[in-house]
Amino acid sequence: MLVFPVSDKHGVFRGTTWGDRGGFPSFTRISVGEETTAKELADDWMITHELAHTGFPNLAEEHHWMEEGLATYVEPIARVQAGQLNAKTIWRDMMDGMPKGEPAAGDEGLDRTHTWGRTYWGGALFCLAADVEIRKETKNKKGLQDSLRAIVAAGGTIDQDWPIERAFEVGDKATGTKVLSEMYAKWSTSAVSVDLPALWKEMGVTRSGDGVELDSKAPLAKVRDGITANR
Ligand SMILES: [Zn+2]
Repeated sequence: MLVFPVSDKHGVFRGTTWGDRGGFPSFTRISVGEETTAKELADDWMITHELAHTGFPNLAEEHHWMEEGLATYVEPIARVQAGQLNAKTIWRDMMDGMPKGEPAAGDEGLDRTHTWGRTYWGGALFCLAADVEIRKETKNKKGLQDSLRAIVAAGGTIDQDWPIERAFEVGDKATGTKVLSEMYAKWSTSAVSVDLPALWKEMGVTRSGDGVELDSKAPLAKVRDGITANR
């Protein structure tokens, strides 16, 4: 990781990560303001986002949404699992962010619609929907995290070029489902929307002031808590 100190600035910005650069399997370049406080560093999401990229293979250009969506989805969850954020905060942020990933009029699917919203949040929405579906099908015994671990265990890191189908095959095998491959077949070339208000209701995430309340009796409360559980 190459850190550029920037004078008269606060915070962390301009992060980029590549695979197989300069003799390193992964290489992250990031700027950090010289005026950055300890609290600002603790609140930073960008370094986690960049490092999340290292644990997934490099995909062809049209699948950029999967690389960015995955990092967008994994980053807050990883920070909850590491004890840096509480779950309520990230469900509130997902409630705010996920609608930006829904297809707009004229959308032709994630492999063919390369807007900012569909790349970052559309990819994150795919990951959330896949995580929930895997957990529903496996009675909450497996989740997207199991797929991701299996992909890394099979050598799928950012310095390796993989077809997206291979990543999803390995990921599905780890959960004993076909969720990723079947979702990809639909989401890649058609505009699939998710009924987010219904999903939040099922997951027991409801708005309350600036934040959210989590209902432990909601039908998918255990799925919701499984996503952020540390294991
Ligand atoms: Zn990124």
